[in-house]
Amino acid sequence: MRNLLILALIILAYSYIKKFFRSAPSFQKKEKKTEQIMDEMVQDPVCRIYVPKNESVKKNILGQDLFFCGSKCAEEYEKKSSSKL
Ligand SMILES: [Zn+2]
Repeated sequence: MRNLLILALIILAYSYIKKFFRSAPSFQKKEKKTEQIMDEMVQDPVCRIYVPKNESVKKNILGQDLFFCGSKCAEEYEKKSSSKL
């Protein structure tokens, strides 16, 4: 009978640990996501050059996320879009 009680306790503890690990955020998934962003290439709308997303300059212009090869192109695009309006 004693052995059964110990076994029950072990099972309880095990299920508790399982629950704890399940609620914890998985770091492996996060790593995969950042890798995907790094591999993604984006086009600069000014000079039409392709740059890796993680190295590009991101700008939100008129609610649209745009990526540039540098701040120079970003500024140029902003000037153009503001003169259109
Ligand atoms: Zn550019």
